[in-house]
Amino acid sequence: MGEVDVLLKRVLDLTDAQNRWRQLETINLIASENVMSPLALKVYLSDFMYRYAEGKPFKRYYQGTKYIDELEVLTAKLIGEMLGTDLVETRPISGTIANASVFRVLADPGDKAVIAPVQAGAHVSHTKFGTLGALGIEQVEMPYDAENMNVDVDGAVKLIEKVKPKFAVLGGSVYLFPHPVREIADAVHAVNGKLVYDAAHVFGLIVGGAWHNPLKLGADAMTASTHKTFPGPQGGIVAFTDEKLYKKVSKTIFPWFLSNHHLHRIPALAVTTLEMKVYGKEYASNVVANARKLAECLVEEGLDVVGEHLGYTRSHQVLVDVRKNGGGAKAAKLLEDANIILNKNLLPWDPPSAVKDPSGLRIGTQEVTRWGMGRSEMCEIAKFIADVLVRKKDPGIVKKNVIEFRKNYNKVNYALEADVATLLDLSR
Ligand SMILES: *Cc1c(COP(=O)(O)O)cnc(C)c1O
Repeated sequence: MGEVDVLLKRVLDLTDAQNRWRQLETINLIASENVMSPLALKVYLSDFMYRYAEGKPFKRYYQGTKYIDELEVLTAKLIGEMLGTDLVETRPISGTIANASVFRVLADPGDKAVIAPVQAGAHVSHTKFGTLGALGIEQVEMPYDAENMNVDVDGAVKLIEKVKPKFAVLGGSVYLFPHPVREIADAVHAVNGKLVYDAAHVFGLIVGGAWHNPLKLGADAMTASTHKTFPGPQGGIVAFTDEKLYKKVSKTIFPWFLSNHHLHRIPALAVTTLEMKVYGKEYASNVVANARKLAECLVEEGLDVVGEHLGYTRSHQVLVDVRKNGGGAKAAKLLEDANIILNKNLLPWDPPSAVKDPSGLRIGTQEVTRWGMGRSEMCEIAKFIADVLVRKKDPGIVKKNVIEFRKNYNKVNYALEADVATLLDLSR
């Protein structure tokens, strides 16, 4: 074989290994991931993936965009209907870009933003270490209420009255319980600021009615990723109640934060939105019920689950305190060796410096739910986890059982089917 053949074989082998491992052989509990339906995948692999459409629908800078124009308007309308607004931007190519596009319009460098405490789940993009910092916006953190594992509402309201920020941010990456949207919206509006709710993690739960809709509770904009509990292509959206803000973000996202917006996302996003329209309610309620069941079964198996006094969780997430099981870094690695994929995570009491070996594990039930698993399967998963972390079984042996278990769950549920025989197959 020539050099190119060898390299090509390596590329193909690595891709195939990934497909087999993560699609067929692992239990994926990463809280920010999901799988697309076969139909969404089918439309994702379309001619749109090579094309450009800078600007807004029907006002593009290039020719050749008539179909994406229509699709983009349709997709925004479908998402808007599920959220109760007709102001939706589908162009952000990620949740981070969605945040950047809104933050930049709401504040200039040197202005202040009040953000949820990191212990209550704030994402790095809300902080001085991420997008907020890159935009030169000053971060002021709300106080944390350890008892309720949430924003300290009274403290946050007082802080907002004092700081008078341009905007506040709620929503996060690691949170079990809904943030106090109404109270913070009222406080920030009273000082002429805006509220941005970052629904990256919970967008799928919101459209399925299993999580409160921040736009109905006073948020001026809701940013989201489209690939976490919302099981679509990687990307972002922003939905607004504030029309002036919508217009300004729409005008500036191109060219400030993107030129092209990865057009093949759009039909896949539309298909996924229709799937959520039909199955979202059932899917979202199962995701949350599965999270709570998994928490209960993990406790029965001898693990320490965070938030017992609050009922463990109301989201898709479960947090496990694994200090007595070797710590987060070791636990996550051992579980990976058993084909159970999740991530180590800081727990509310960890100092930021513990990031390399934090106390906890973060678990999400959205993908296993989509693979058709229910309450009894959550207890089987808890057993596999306890086999490794409590009973200290050899991860290599547990892995064999996990692979066997996964064989029963190889079809994506809550998915629409359609006759795609007429679609030109680009993988020809
Ligand atoms: C994941 C996440 C993001 C970033 O989303 P990407 O689509 O990965 O850029 C933003 N905010 C929160 C709260 C997140 O959890």
